[in-house]
Amino acid sequence: MVARVIPVDPFDLVIFGGTGDLARRKIVPGLYRRFRDGQMPPEARIIAAARSEIDRGAFRQFAAEAVEEFVPQDRRDARSISDFLDRLEYVKVDIHGSEGWPELAALIRPDVVRAFYFSVAPGLFGDLARRLHAHDIADGDCRVVVEKPFGNDLATARALNATLAEHFSEGQVYRIDHYLGKETVQNLMAVRFANILFEPLWNAQYVDHVQITVAETVGVAGRGAYYDEAGAMRDMVQNHLMQLLCLIAMEPPFRFEPDAVRDEKLKVIRALDPVEPRDIVRGQYRAGNGCASYAEDVGNDDSLTESFIALRVHVANWRWKGTPFYLRTGKRLRARASEIAVTFREPPHSIFGEGEGWKENVLVIRLQPNEGMKLRVMIKEPGPGGMRLKDVPLDMSFAEALGEHGADIPDAYERLIMDVIRGNQTLFMRGDEVEAAWAWTDPVVAEWQAREDRPEPYDAGSSGPEDALMLMHRDGRRWREISP
Ligand code: NAP
Repeated sequence: MVARVIPVDPFDLVIFGGTGDLARRKIVPGLYRRFRDGQMPPEARIIAAARSEIDRGAFRQFAAEAVEEFVPQDRRDARSISDFLDRLEYVKVDIHGSEGWPELAALIRPDVVRAFYFSVAPGLFGDLARRLHAHDIADGDCRVVVEKPFGNDLATARALNATLAEHFSEGQVYRIDHYLGKETVQNLMAVRFANILFEPLWNAQYVDHVQITVAETVGVAGRGAYYDEAGAMRDMVQNHLMQLLCLIAMEPPFRFEPDAVRDEKLKVIRALDPVEPRDIVRGQYRAGNGCASYAEDVGNDDSLTESFIALRVHVANWRWKGTPFYLRTGKRLRARASEIAVTFREPPHSIFGEGEGWKENVLVIRLQPNEGMKLRVMIKEPGPGGMRLKDVPLDMSFAEALGEHGADIPDAYERLIMDVIRGNQTLFMRGDEVEAAWAWTDPVVAEWQAREDRPEPYDAGSSGPEDALMLMHRDGRRWREISP
């Protein structure tokens, strides 16, 4: 199968924070891959801006090393790397100062798409937006890309939205949640809305429950200071897990276009019931398996921050009344795995009698690793001996199903950056969505903070605290195993 790559319009993309970690690991390698695939026109230009005293040559060296480190060997070649590097510029700019801005203004072309990637700490966004306008660099046509965390509660998210709104219209702001750029996540929409098969069953009458798991094996070392302020609820649930929940639970948008999709997601967030304390399990990893404890990683023995959280959530609307959504995410778990599992109810009557090996139908949407989907269905176990049932997976691994192209699934960042250039906001969060997500999150966090709730310790390499298992057991259900 030959991938159809549609070139984007000529652009100038300015990466503020172009020498930072995100630029090195994601943005620059992602842009190179799009370039190598022929999606970038020859006129495209990428301009990094930061305070470091480096010249264009040194930035190109930084970019070359980033490509070498983060793009697999069979997906890069010397010729295209050299051509890609020719498109890179560097300008020394201090967001707080006046230095560098005239040089940057002179570089940017008025007649191409202009996008500004705010890959710097959120505390700099206000100043950055102001300076872009003061130097006449940003006009009504340009786009700005902002990164998570988008605030750390409703008040800070509102303030951030207000700051951006002083200088840009909502149609210019691209708030990244990279989970939305994942191939499987978009496939979830294709599966739901391009097939007649699932939608009639996609409701509380036929869906018993939904599990959303985002498990990591890494700890928080390296970003301990930030993480200890945020915790799993604010770092992962408020954004990534919430977005996945929205895509599962939302009504069909009338069209696949930005505001139609985002309106439906917003309705889901607004329909979420407040979470009862008994429906929340918070955990913190302890030392073991050669790993330091959470407290050691963040350098805070008294930390009450959760590195794991499991929740039972209800979407209070007609479609989902009576179907719980179980969410869990954590660090230092037994495997790195992100998946959504939709478990269907049992048939109303079994013609095969009881206990013949029957298991529920489960649709598993796997985000990472091994992106793909599986549908577990019942069949007759082959061979003599009467009717014995067996569940087997109908398996669609993208890498296998789509051949060579499937193995080359674009990384979320490269897809999202190209969407910015195309001016397509469908996979980006709107300001009101982010605020609604915080409005739901804030009281939950405030409640456990008020009672100084202490997270339950769990072993590194485990599936999380015991109580998380109980959260499901008491409903007569079980978590799926966390497996790579
Ligand atoms: P980082 O490694 O600390 O890089 C920060 C960048 O900002 C550097 O290029 C730095 O370069 C530049 N910078 C800092 N102060 C500046 C100023 N006053 N004027 C101009 N440039 C300035 O941070 P990062 O990890 O790349 O993160 C960037 C953003 O992405 C943050 O909002 C972060 O929350 C978000 N994010 C990062 C990741 C990730 O995996 N890294 C994931 C999700 C979200 P100089 O020091 O040379 O100025």
